[in-house]
Order: sequence, then C-alpha cells, then structure tokens
Amino acid sequence: MNPDDPAIAFDPTPFVVMPGRPVRLDDLPTRGDDWVDGDPEVAKSAAQDANGTISARLGELQERLHATKAAKVLVVLQGMDTSGKDSTTRRVFGDGSPLGIRAVPFGRPTEVERAHDFLWRVHAAAPADGEIVVFNRSHYEDVLVVRIDELVPAERWERRFDHLVDFERMLVDEGTVVRKFFLHISRDEQHQRLQDRLDDPTKHWKFESGDLDARARWDNYQRAYEEAIARTSTDVAPWYVVPADQKWFRDLVVGSVVLEALEALDMRWPEPPEGLEHIVIPD
Ligand code: AMP
Ligand code: MG
Repeated sequence: MNPDDPAIAFDPTPFVVMPGRPVRLDDLPTRGDDWVDGDPEVAKSAAQDANGTISARLGELQERLHATKAAKVLVVLQGMDTSGKDSTTRRVFGDGSPLGIRAVPFGRPTEVERAHDFLWRVHAAAPADGEIVVFNRSHYEDVLVVRIDELVPAERWERRFDHLVDFERMLVDEGTVVRKFFLHISRDEQHQRLQDRLDDPTKHWKFESGDLDARARWDNYQRAYEEAIARTSTDVAPWYVVPADQKWFRDLVVGSVVLEALEALDMRWPEPPEGLEHIVIPD
C-alpha cells in the first residue's frame, strides 16, 4: 500500500484466512461496519473516494505490468449467486486496459470439458506474462456445486483439495500472483438482491430459477465453502473472506488486496532501447 496516499491506506489483512485455520462463515462479518469509525454515510463516501483512487492506480499498474511482463496475475472471485462477482470485476478493474486484462466466467462445463480433468479448462484460461485475469467462479466450483449436487463421486472431489493447492503452487512457482476472494453476503441480502432481479426489467436476464435451488441449499454451500477455503488458503495463494453486503466495502477490500500485490512487484518502466536519446524523428 502507498503510505503517502491516505486515500488508499486501507489495511485488508483482517480478512485474510490464515493457512490451516478453520473457517466459520457465520462468525465472519458480511458488513464492514466494524471497520469504519463514526458516521456510516461519511465512511461510505470516503470509501467510495478511495475506491476511485484505487481503481485508477490499478489501471496505471496494469499498464506497467503489460509493459514489463513482470508477472502474471490471477484473481479468483467466488461467492453465492448475487454476491457481486460481476460488479466487483467492473468496479475494481474497470480502469484497466482490455489489452492486458481479461475476465473469464466459468459456467457448467461443456461435454468436452467434462471429458477432461477438472483443471483442464482452468489452466487454459490462466494468465500469461503481463496479464491480469479475473476468474468469475473458478476451479473451486469443482468442490462446491459438484459436491453439493453430487456430480462426481465423493472420493473424487475429496482428492481435489490437494490438487487445488498443488496447482496454484505450480502457477505461483511459474511467476503468477494469486489472490482469492470469497464475497460473503448474508442470506437476507441475497433475498433482497434476488428480488431486485425479479422486479427490475434490466436485471431479468440475470435471474435463473436454479439460483433458488442453490439458495435452498444455503447451509450446505456455506459448509462446503468453509472447508474449501480452510483447506486451500496458503501463504502463496491466500483466500480473503470479504464482507460483501455493502458494495463500497467489498470493493475497498478487494481493490486494496490487489493493489498491494501489484505495488509489491515494484515495477519500473522498461529500460529504453540503446541510443534512444540520439534518435531524431525526420520532418
Ligand atoms: P453464473 O455464474 O450465474 O453464470 O452461473 C454459472 C453456473 O455454472 C453456476 O450455477 C455454477 O454453479 C455452474 N458451474 C460453474 N462451474 C461448474 C462446474 N465445474 N460444474 C458444474 N457447474 C458449474
Ligand atoms: Mg447466475
């Protein structure tokens, strides 16, 4: 984080999941109220200002990343339906250039994808040097919906926790920065957001009746998320449980984590080609 700029001095470390620690989602906040002092409206507006600064700075650093190819960056967004995966992508990464940033949604696998191992389609979408890739859902669905809907036998998905850790360690060893976010919303907030999708014609397209089936299995999903997060949060590829009922707080946490990771790369503009200072552009 940039200590000279108080607008972006938010510290997201309280939300990281320490490796090997159990996760109890019911005990973790879905709102940011405990982290803001004084008048909530003032805090919200300060956070919104900070978010603007953060996403602009992320845009600058993304250009540097593209120029220097200093790393590959993978951001994983997971969460229940309506938790804000799409809007986080838009709001946190919206100032980046399409030249070096990609959002990849993972839906139900195709027949060809299903015929391969579960990481096949994921690995193919992983970032290259200089790229930021945001996964909207990810390889974690293969221990979440797959587990709950019993799409593969238990002995198969149970082994996947180790594969997830090993896969991400390999990506990191090969030069990838990995940060994973669980957008934690309350059941009530999801109710409200699903209702909005029914009421607002511009959101009808997002409504899927299958979302109600997943909502009916809320507790199963929360337990599956707890196990997945606890077993796969590592020093090199940590999970953050992000209070996500308030969009401005959610964006602040995600943006701060990614910004910190990019600042840590300490990217300088590449050296100019030899003799550049002597070049004269002809009239
Ligand atoms: P959405 O993100 O709203 O477009 O929905 C995508 C749907 O695809 C969700 O219902 C996910 O649970 C489902 N999905 C994603 N990955 C998998 C997977 N590996 N196996 C089965 N379903 C998946
Ligand atoms: Mg959906």
